Amino acid sequence: MTAAAGVRRLAGVGPKLAERLADLGIVSIGDVLLHQPNRYEDRSRITPVAELWQGSPALAVVRVEGAEIRQGRRRSLLVTTSDGAARLWLRLFHFGPDQQARLAPGTWLRLYGEPRSGAYGMEMVHPEIQVVDSEAAGYDIVARLVPVYPTVSGVSQNRLRDLVGQALSLLEQPGFWLESLPADLTGPAVSMSANQALRRIHDPPIDSDVAALAEGRDPACQRLAFEELLGHQLSLRSRRRQIRADRAPAMGQPGRGLAPLFDGLGFSPTGAQRRVIGEILADMAGRSPMLRLVQGDVGSGKTVVAAAALLTAVDNAWQGAFMAPTELLAEQHHAALSRWLEPLGMPVWLITGKRKKDDTLLAEIASGTPGVVVGTHALFQEALEFGALGLAVIDEQHRFGVDQRLALRNKAKNGGATTAHQLIMTATPIPRTLAMSAYADLDTSVIDELPPGRTPITTVAIPNTRRDEVVSRIGDAVAEGRQVYWVCTLIETSDKLEAQAAEAAAEALSEALDGVHVSLVHGRMKANDKARAMNAFKAGSIDVLVATTVIEVGVDVPNASLMIIENAERLGLAQLHQLRGRVGRGSTASHCVLLYQGPLSDTARSRLTALRKTSDGFAIARADLELRGPGEVLGTRQTGAQEFRIADLVRDADLAEAALAVADDVLAYHPREAELLIERWTSAAAAYARV
Ligand code: ADP
Ligand code: MG
Repeated sequence: MTAAAGVRRLAGVGPKLAERLADLGIVSIGDVLLHQPNRYEDRSRITPVAELWQGSPALAVVRVEGAEIRQGRRRSLLVTTSDGAARLWLRLFHFGPDQQARLAPGTWLRLYGEPRSGAYGMEMVHPEIQVVDSEAAGYDIVARLVPVYPTVSGVSQNRLRDLVGQALSLLEQPGFWLESLPADLTGPAVSMSANQALRRIHDPPIDSDVAALAEGRDPACQRLAFEELLGHQLSLRSRRRQIRADRAPAMGQPGRGLAPLFDGLGFSPTGAQRRVIGEILADMAGRSPMLRLVQGDVGSGKTVVAAAALLTAVDNAWQGAFMAPTELLAEQHHAALSRWLEPLGMPVWLITGKRKKDDTLLAEIASGTPGVVVGTHALFQEALEFGALGLAVIDEQHRFGVDQRLALRNKAKNGGATTAHQLIMTATPIPRTLAMSAYADLDTSVIDELPPGRTPITTVAIPNTRRDEVVSRIGDAVAEGRQVYWVCTLIETSDKLEAQAAEAAAEALSEALDGVHVSLVHGRMKANDKARAMNAFKAGSIDVLVATTVIEVGVDVPNASLMIIENAERLGLAQLHQLRGRVGRGSTASHCVLLYQGPLSDTARSRLTALRKTSDGFAIARADLELRGPGEVLGTRQTGAQEFRIADLVRDADLAEAALAVADDVLAYHPREAELLIERWTSAAAAYARV
């Protein structure tokens, strides 16, 4: 048997338990061994009852003196015990006749539980109870640090400990757990064998530093974390190789070139934009599919970069798709691309929920007419067929769910003949190790320069008690010809409540501000009405736009230079940064007011401080990572980036670096080990990877 064998092979595991275990991510026997304890209980000594301390879990040996059923508020079995010197009461709320029989007077017990002072004296509620033959047997313990595992209902600690015990004895068998780190690796990350490390986390020596073990800083945890990070890295790289092996439409024709596009922009692309466009076009000219992630802070000008790529696709007689996360953004992109590309004779179509029934348009796209299709995820609905999809651009990718992106990836396969190039854009800057670990299957370009002439945004945090002051400041700003966003946020992401809050805010503002044009945009409005409000705001006929977080991504109105964010304490850093990015797009000095409801929690305070101090997206992303952890930053569920079992990208950033450094060598020189590592560590995540 090997560690890949299913848990059902362990004694006592039936179909029911196997199902519960699967909820814990435990499918194979190997998974049992990789199930890391949360903490450890010191069961190395027996505490005399007289020395038990309220709230400190302890081991005690006692003899039953009697038991009776009590009918209090809840029926309970009250067992009186003593160790000869002092009494201890046990209180059980769940008990049956068997249990009662087991607790007959005179029986010796070994208990583990948390003492508290009860009605009679020290008591333990539902301690772990072991019946022993005699007092001496009770005292005869193997001093152990007992692991406590994360679990779900229906799987007890004792059950988990038993399964781990069985798995640990299998570990003795040669070949059960193949060492998968190549022998030539060196350094602290490989200081012990996998066997030693597994043994140590489940059954640590009695003098271990339990805090280090529980927090994953122990060398055993580090050894396994390194292996996990390496396995993950290898799987991403090999997946990338597979995709590279597909055939892509080569787009090497210079066509009409980028000059006419650039000439019509009204501004000159930054050096960073030109460099990134160059990287993209070089990929697209190749025979294997591009998979490129473009990171660029809010306002860095990603849309132009996408336009250049789309133009190239169409110049090479292919179709390009541009997918945005909201209708509002899709409409805005459609407007910008039409303005830039249609003068060059290039069709730019918009597909939103509404328009997906336009049969003539669908037929045109299905026939393969070269052009650009802009839309939301409606782009990859069944009915929409691309005759010749050559490039798919995904904007604000972190806003899409895994399923939506996989659906597009499938669409990109063009029925198998060729795989379209993919360009993935995000404004959420991701620190390097995190990016490499989450997106190692992508090449990365960074737009690390903002267009010239932007003035920095001044950010202040103001308590809600000074709301009136803020409102009158809006009046002043409008009098100076500036435009203002007022953003309403709610804890609950209920469109309806959010819309109501926004309506109320809009009403209050127009009442308070005489002669100021206030308008509203929220998620419950019809697409048409939203677009109308946005366009009026863009055209300058509205002074104050009250909005929900629908405007979080992408919206671009350069003349807006003041933003008020209500209840800012409730939003995450990344979201606040995105929102704030709606201002500071023109040449007037911009301001962002974080209106908060006190008192602030420590995290909320740190977030607002981070935001006030910097507008550098990368610095904010680092702060976010520290405050929230990587799963949240990546939106793990959304990106499909797997949760690590042992590793933690913040704590183990150095191990992640080390894994990155050796990954290519392991793939090249140790293919057998590489395969083992991939299988061991990514089988659960692979469901996504293989689609
Ligand atoms: P992002 O999507 O990266 O947040 P956008 O593509 O929406 O940014 O661009 C933000 C604004 O900056 C738009 O109004 C765009 O036209 C403008 N812009 C883009 N590149 C430049 C540039 N090189 N010089 C001046 N303005 C630019
Ligand atoms: Mg954008």
